[in-house]
Order: sequence, then C-alpha cells, then structure tokens
Amino acid sequence: MNFEYTARTQDLIQQVEAFMDRYIYPVEQQLNTYYGQAENYWTVHPKIEELKGLAKSAGLWNLFLPKSYGELSPGLTNLEYAPLAELMGRCKWAAEIFNCSAPDTGNMEVLAKYGNPEQQERWLKPLMEGKIRSAFLMTEPDVASSDATNIETSIVADGDEYVINGRKWWSSGAMHPHCKIAIVMGKTDFEAQRHVQQSMILVPMDTPGLEIVRPLNVFGSYDAPEGHAEIKLTNVRVPKSNILLGEGRGFEIAQGRLGPGRIHHCMRLVGAAQRSLELMCQRVASRQAFGRTLKDFSSIRQDIATSRCEIEQARLLTLSAADKMDREGSKGAKDLISMIKIVAPRMCQGVVDRAIQAHGGMGVSGDTPLASFFAYSRIIRIADGPDEVHMYQLGRNTVKMWM
Ligand SMILES: Cc1cc2nc3c(=O)[nH]c(=O)nc-3n(C[C@H](O)[C@H](O)[C@H](O)COP(=O)(O)OP(=O)(O)OC[C@H]3O[C@@H](n4cnc5c(N)ncnc54)[C@H](O)[C@@H]3O)c2cc1C
Repeated sequence: MNFEYTARTQDLIQQVEAFMDRYIYPVEQQLNTYYGQAENYWTVHPKIEELKGLAKSAGLWNLFLPKSYGELSPGLTNLEYAPLAELMGRCKWAAEIFNCSAPDTGNMEVLAKYGNPEQQERWLKPLMEGKIRSAFLMTEPDVASSDATNIETSIVADGDEYVINGRKWWSSGAMHPHCKIAIVMGKTDFEAQRHVQQSMILVPMDTPGLEIVRPLNVFGSYDAPEGHAEIKLTNVRVPKSNILLGEGRGFEIAQGRLGPGRIHHCMRLVGAAQRSLELMCQRVASRQAFGRTLKDFSSIRQDIATSRCEIEQARLLTLSAADKMDREGSKGAKDLISMIKIVAPRMCQGVVDRAIQAHGGMGVSGDTPLASFFAYSRIIRIADGPDEVHMYQLGRNTVKMWM
C-alpha cells in the first residue's frame, strides 16, 4: 500500500481542512442548537444551503464517488478519499455540506452503477447537484433485518406497474424536507432461490400509498433534519421501468452498495475519534483538580495514550480496506471491510467515552460534539450490518482459510 498522496489529494486535504476551520466549526454549535428545537426539526437552515454552495463552487463536492465511475467522478480513489472523509467526520453534519453524506452517497453509487440513463437523468443528476436528498428502505420492524433475506415487503407486477406493500423503519434521511426519492428493497419472487427473491425499486416519496408513520428517536435525538422514519407502503404503484437492474437483482445491489458506505462511516468515525482526543487534550491541559492539572494524572495520560494508539490502528486498517477496495472491489475487500466495520465503531466509542469522562459533566452535554459522536459510534455498531454479524461472517471466512 502506498501512503504517498498525490499533490492534488494533498491540496484537497488542505482545502477541506481550511473549509472546516473557516466555515463549519464557527457555526457548528449554532446549528446543533437550532436542530435541537422541535419547531426546527424538519426544516433546512439557510446556512446549510449557503455552505453547500461554497463547497460546490470550491470543487469540494461529491469527492466520495471513486474514479472508477469515469466522468461522474471527481477522480479520487477510495484511498485518496479516506483522509477527506476523516476530516468531514470531525463535525456531525459536515459530510452533507460536501454532498458526501449517507444515505445519499450509497444511493448515488447505486444509481451510477445500476441505473439506466432515464433513471440517472431523473434522480442521479439532482442528487449529484445536491438539489434533492434520498432514502434507502431495507430494514423492517417485523423481521430480523440483519439477515436481508428475511425482508417481507412485496413487489408484485400488475400490467405496466409494480404494486408495493410492506412496512419499513430506520429509513434514514426520509424526514428531510428535500427527500424526494427512496430506493425500496422488497421481494418480487417469494419462491425463488434465497438470494434472488429480492429486487430494488425506485419510489418517489410523494407516491400515493407511501405514508410516513413517525420519526424514530435515537438516544433522545431525532437526528434532524434527516431523521430516521418508519414508513408504511400500502398498494404503492410505480411504473415497471422503476426497477433497478432487473427482478431478482436486489441482493446483488445491496452487497455492492454496502461496501463503500460501510467504509465511509469508518473513515468519518476515525475523524470523530481524532477530534474527541484533541478536545480531551485541550480540556485536561486547562483544568485543575487536587492540586494538579488533569493532564498530569497518570490515569489520564494512559487514557490519552491508549486513545492515540487505537485511533492510529483503526486509521491504518481503514486505509488498508480502502486500498484493497480500489484494487479488488467490494467483493475482494470483504474481509477487510468486515474488520474495519468491527474495529472503527468500537474504537470510536471507547475513545469518545474517555474524552467524555475527562470533560466531566460537560462531556455529556450538548456543549461539545462528544455526546453526538458517542451516539454515532454506538449506532454504527448496528446500522449497515451489526458488528456481531460481521464477526460471524469474518470468523467463518477465517476458519475456511485454515481448515
Ligand atoms: C440510526 C440508524 C440508522 C439506520 N439507517 C438505515 C437506513 O437508512 N436504511 C435501512 O434499511 N436500515 C437502516 N438501519 C437499520 C439497520 O441496518 C438495522 O437495524 C440492522 O441491519 C440490524 O437489523 P435489525 O434492527 O432488524 O436487528 P436484528 O436483525 O433483529 O438483529 C438484532 C441483533 O442480533 C444480533 N445478531 C444478528 N445476527 C447475528 C449473528 N449472525 N451472530 C451474532 N449476532 C447476531 C446482532 O447483534 C443484532 O444487532 C439503521 C439503523 C439505525 C440504528
């Protein structure tokens, strides 16, 4: 693996860093406070659109889409994107400013990879321009969705249309006022072989029969303005041309979609952990207790040293997974993707926990980003494939290598 970044990547790193310093950190607290108030939950603060405009005109836009996507891509590899995503992870909502936030990134990759020209014109183009947002509807309340073969939503052909019935939840982004399109996973053939029963279909959010039941609460927060919705689909009709790739290809698309998305979360988690460590160092250097500055207590130094080691370990594993993805695709890198999906959220959760402790009461308040980073890392141990499931699969693959 070559860690020497090109001059262009080094320049982008500096630009994203400068953008964060100049535009994002100064308004971070203001926007967090705004979205903590119920009346603002599902609104778009004008500052967000202003910052998106600035990032776009600076060329700091869609950096996530790897160069294998040709003209659509700004030309970076996953390995080159990693340090940029790490910087974006230093603020909970920064990735959106650069049009690099989930679930849009995964949905854009799906449309870029599997969408036909008509689907790309209608949905990929406005997503890549940052004009609309999107949701991905796979998980269902009634079945254990970490095993995607369990999902029960039905997609039934009827003349020129498909009719969709089912119930979804944890549909991230669906509460956002600009969310216009959902990629829905359901079954077109309940009798087929286990991994070809599923299909993915495009459903505009304003289609009759699509009903948002409620926003879900995550550790007391609604994660506004994106939110996570529970959604009921009752006789939802869409044209047959809305199917992605074809009937029975849903599982295949899901596998392709989740590889890059998982690794992006891990890159951002490294950034969240790094910022937490920096905040911890600043805090313990400025507080006195029992006649000493906190930084001089050996338990605090151990926490800092442990955190620094763990962050660097996870960072290198993330880069290794990104590099393998560039060379061998999601399939070739699947074990490394599992490894980093197991390691990064746990690492971040541990680092943030130590930083919270060192901040005392302030650490659990909304006055620092630490509490939101703690929630983020805990969530990513479940979302996009629980770490337990990755361990189950990685353990199986590892035994196979040596048995
Ligand atoms: C904040 C958030 C955002 C999300 N966003 C989206 C989204 O945008 N779109 C979407 O479709 N879904 C989304 N999800 C859903 C998420 O992907 C699922 O919650 C996850 O896949 C687990 O499915 P489940 O909740 O049905 O848990 P279950 O499948 O019921 O599993 C429960 C637990 O069982 C354990 N388990 C399962 N299998 C094994 C195994 N083989 N070995 C050991 N233990 C095992 C795991 O610990 C797992 O957490 C989101 C979830 C959260 C919390």
